[in-house]
Amino acid sequence: MSESSNFLAEQIQADLEQGTYGGRVVTRFPPEPNGFLHIGHAKAIVVDFGLAQRFGGRCHLRFDDTNPVGEDTLYVESIQRDVRWLGYEWGEHLYYASDYFPKLFAFAERLIREGRAYVCSLSLDQIRETRGTVTEPGTPSPDRDRPVQDSLRLLREMREGKHAEGAYTVRAKIDMAHPNMKMRDPLMYRIRHAHHHRTGDSWHIYPMYDFAHGLSDAIEGITHSFCTLEFENNRALYDWFVEAIFEPPVPHQYEMARLNLSYVVLSKRKLITLVREGHVWGWDDPRMPTLAGLRRRGVPPEAVVAFVEQVGVSRADSLVDVALLDHTVRDYLNTRAPRRMGVLDPLPVTLTNIPEGEGRRIELDEWPHDIPRQGSRAVPLTRHLVIEREDFAVDPPKGFKRLTPGGRVRLRGAGLFTCEEVLTDQAGQITGLRGRLDPEGAPGPKVAGTIHWSSATAGVEARVLLVDRLFTLERPDDHPDGALAVLNPDSLVERRAVIEPALAQAPAGTRVQLERLGYFIVDEAAQSDQPPTLIRIVPLKDSWAAKASPAEPAPPPAKKDPGRKRVRKSASEALQELIEVRPEIADRLDRLEADGLSEEDAAVIGTDDGLFELYAQAVAQGADQVAVVNWIVNDLRAVTKERPLETLSLTGAALAELIALVTQGEITTAVARKVFARVIEGEGSPIQIVDRQGLRPIRDPARIEAWAAEVVQANPDKVQAYRQGRTNLRGFFVGQVMRASRGKADPAMVNRVLDRLLAG
Ligand code: ATP
Ligand code: MG
Repeated sequence: MSESSNFLAEQIQADLEQGTYGGRVVTRFPPEPNGFLHIGHAKAIVVDFGLAQRFGGRCHLRFDDTNPVGEDTLYVESIQRDVRWLGYEWGEHLYYASDYFPKLFAFAERLIREGRAYVCSLSLDQIRETRGTVTEPGTPSPDRDRPVQDSLRLLREMREGKHAEGAYTVRAKIDMAHPNMKMRDPLMYRIRHAHHHRTGDSWHIYPMYDFAHGLSDAIEGITHSFCTLEFENNRALYDWFVEAIFEPPVPHQYEMARLNLSYVVLSKRKLITLVREGHVWGWDDPRMPTLAGLRRRGVPPEAVVAFVEQVGVSRADSLVDVALLDHTVRDYLNTRAPRRMGVLDPLPVTLTNIPEGEGRRIELDEWPHDIPRQGSRAVPLTRHLVIEREDFAVDPPKGFKRLTPGGRVRLRGAGLFTCEEVLTDQAGQITGLRGRLDPEGAPGPKVAGTIHWSSATAGVEARVLLVDRLFTLERPDDHPDGALAVLNPDSLVERRAVIEPALAQAPAGTRVQLERLGYFIVDEAAQSDQPPTLIRIVPLKDSWAAKASPAEPAPPPAKKDPGRKRVRKSASEALQELIEVRPEIADRLDRLEADGLSEEDAAVIGTDDGLFELYAQAVAQGADQVAVVNWIVNDLRAVTKERPLETLSLTGAALAELIALVTQGEITTAVARKVFARVIEGEGSPIQIVDRQGLRPIRDPARIEAWAAEVVQANPDKVQAYRQGRTNLRGFFVGQVMRASRGKADPAMVNRVLDRLLAG
């Protein structure tokens, strides 16, 4: 994790300073191979692998396959693929808890011999009934003092399959009156005559999680064992088993909050139901919150990691808004996905002043002006085009900024189109438009806005999948009839679109922004004989947030008095009224929409003098419009709900400076949020704060060189081994240098310096 501080990182830091583990940091990610990983697991992965990396340690991938039922090698493979996709590597440290079955068995024998465990003949129900309650102690099992030799014999018989399931269990002899119920003689083994995907039929007893987990950690020399809060009460048991068998220093367990995300379910069991019952195509359906689903949808792994880092690590359970994930994805793709055009719901348009069969190719920039990247592609401009059906209205609602009969719009990059004729069929349906295309600046009606388009004759047909939330309820599990009752029927909508030829040739996996529509990926299922498939990764604006925004409150509850009609002002009517009193707002909205802002965002910023001023200043300083809007709409507005903007120390220049720090890769978005919080408090400019707090990565070649040289000198054996081909020691060296710099060195520079020093 690149986040500078959280309680887990502090724990590791403290152990390093005190020498608890002799400078070792070893973590593990322990998935049970009974389903695909989901975005909740991404949080665990980023914590487990990320912290190990940051402190120069290593992270093991261990399959927690102690339960024979429901586990499968299919899942083992998918989990490895998903962890690698996120950018993490376990090297030679791939383990299976089932490989420890013989060791665990020997531990159980040892505990029995020492009088610390016994074979119990109570049924599971009886065990539950004799466990007592929080206020009353439990009743000891009649077998608690079974002679050691008897327990040992029964244990062997259990293992060999001589007893029926449920006939016996193995229990630790701890304390039947312990205030922590988990400590009241917990189970270590139960009998299961089940086939295991790795050990086959050789075992008839399987260890319980609490017995197996901590001991597996100890066997592997794990130092810090991170898990989620529901295991807090299990920690005492973890310690008991580990301390009963191993000498210090033993591993310790630390808990953090789970990641919960709105509008999805994050439980393997529930995700399996969605797959089995056919509510989705499979585990990699782009609507699924699985890592496979996110990958198929086109979400970049870097954005998943950035999202998890932004959420951070804490011990407070919370529900994270899925809009934050979408936001992170947009943020990441904005500077990486080149612009293209495509039309999802085509309405034919004839440019009457371009002759049939004639046309030209126009070069359009792939990047907006505010993104410092170069590139262009040729787009065919022909007599017959298509535009988005919803960009034309005969009877436009107030504030409509697109095409109307007799009206004029800018066709992105092509010129100004004036609609002179509307064609309809016998049923009155609009079948097409005709009109002139004029160069910029030509006299004519006022330009209403800019729309996207595609050539009807040179464009290519594509199948487009629009992905939306899988459930309509923020917490689907809260529905009394279960999550399936609130499946979103429109979660996947298919369209026949017309896209520009340059995009039709793009290889699978290419990510682009279709102007005004969102970010899309060319699907992997693309076949040469079929129209390409594009999946929408994320739309450009969050339509759900807009629906729930305070600007448009829910309709008031129906009035009891049926004689009186209640009229609710729609937001656009309210806006219209405002414009009547303050006409300059209309100009602002025009300007903001011309800058590419959505109508909602433009309304938020354009109607507030302070925000508009700030926006205009920041953009004038060269900041990316989208980034400015995101900061204002997401971060600043969260503050101004409580405190008026005038009381904050924020200028457009400061905002532009902050955005530049992020785009130049000087700081992460997460760090930028912290800087932002200080800027508004008047603690200085972003650069001053970043420098004062030492938030930039250290790039001083002399210092990095010195740290690296020290590490190389201190580890002659490892250097030699590395030079003889043990290249997996690389992580060790990088980690040590990072540690020496207390996590602050620029990893890319560390790698470059090590390249040289280790080359020998
Ligand atoms: P699920 O509840 O989805 O079935 P699980 O906890 O059974 O998941 P495991 O395979 O046992 O899944 O989990 C592997 C690791 O991932 C564990 O350390 C677990 O604590 C962690 N983990 C699982 N879900 C989340 C989540 N939502 N947020 C953070 N960590 C999680
Ligand atoms: Mg589990």
